[in-house]
Amino acid sequence: MARAITLAGPISLSQYMAAANGHYYDTRDPLGARGDFTTAPEVSQMFGELIGLALTDLWHRAGQPAARYVEYGPGRGTLAADALRAMATVGLAPPVHLIETSGALRERQAAAVPSAEWHLELMSVPEDGALLVVANEFFDALPIRQLVKTQDGWRERLVGCQDTLFLPVMGNTVFDPIVPPQLRDAPDGSVLETSPASVAVMRTLARRIVAQGGAAIVVDYGYDGPAIGDTFQAVRGHAFANPFENPGEHDLTAHVDFGTLAEAARAEGAVVHGPVGQGAFLEALGIGSRAAALAAAAPERAASIEVDRARLTGADQMGTLFKVIAVTAPGWPAPEGFGS
Ligand code: SAH
Repeated sequence: MARAITLAGPISLSQYMAAANGHYYDTRDPLGARGDFTTAPEVSQMFGELIGLALTDLWHRAGQPAARYVEYGPGRGTLAADALRAMATVGLAPPVHLIETSGALRERQAAAVPSAEWHLELMSVPEDGALLVVANEFFDALPIRQLVKTQDGWRERLVGCQDTLFLPVMGNTVFDPIVPPQLRDAPDGSVLETSPASVAVMRTLARRIVAQGGAAIVVDYGYDGPAIGDTFQAVRGHAFANPFENPGEHDLTAHVDFGTLAEAARAEGAVVHGPVGQGAFLEALGIGSRAAALAAAAPERAASIEVDRARLTGADQMGTLFKVIAVTAPGWPAPEGFGS
């Protein structure tokens, strides 16, 4: 990457992020207490179980059509294993399609879900059967662009390189026409993030759900945008790091703009539910009674089950920063968990 920049000049933040994360995920398992970050399915089995049951309930009410389970960026495969186990208890055992680019993580997923088939993109998933889709902490890893308001209009933040030191630099092109009109007059220094890659993934997903039937549950940290804010961050060893140092050695992410994702899904004719906070969503799906049942079955673990439940749902923990949307085919029933 340093050589490419030295030869051709600064690159877009999205190119930098795609190259860095491609290397990062392909060369390690970043999850867990000894890794770089911990996700909801790694906190507790309750997360994947409740999502699996929500999809099964929807599938029942849709008339139990032939269906496939699809998950984007399944990490260690923990969510898929928990969801599929919960689905099987109520008679649903769909073929499993995991969309994953990382060789290291595909190996972990194969251990958790031996029956799975892997894909690089949704494109190669068969076009028959309804799709029951999950994406947890997937969209935050997709590349973003940043536009910065300057005295001379909105310009793109690029990544330059001096020897092996990467640094943000300002591009020359003025992008005012693509900034939403209500944000165009934001103060100098304001940052607007866009993620063309995320919009493209969502449009493809929504198009397939509309054509085949089904639903997708998307969970991530984010906001109901578009909105002003610089959320580009690097995480390593459970702490923030400088995203322009050591690309490929820490997780580069940005908060997910759920408003723009919802708009992309609607543009394809899909129905969007939410966003709602992860806490409210899991409460509505019955995390309280699931936690009580697990604690009754293993009283010595009751305290830690309660800690996990609070971590997933607490407003000061993952309960409100993390949000959920569901995308359904027109004519499909509304999923549980999004209010009435
Ligand atoms: N969903 C898991 C893992 C989240 S980490 C969990 O909640 O624990 C992000 C995941 O997305 C990893 O599995 C990573 O390898 C995968 N990923 C990142 N970019 C991707 C891309 N462009 N296509 C497919 N998978 C990708």
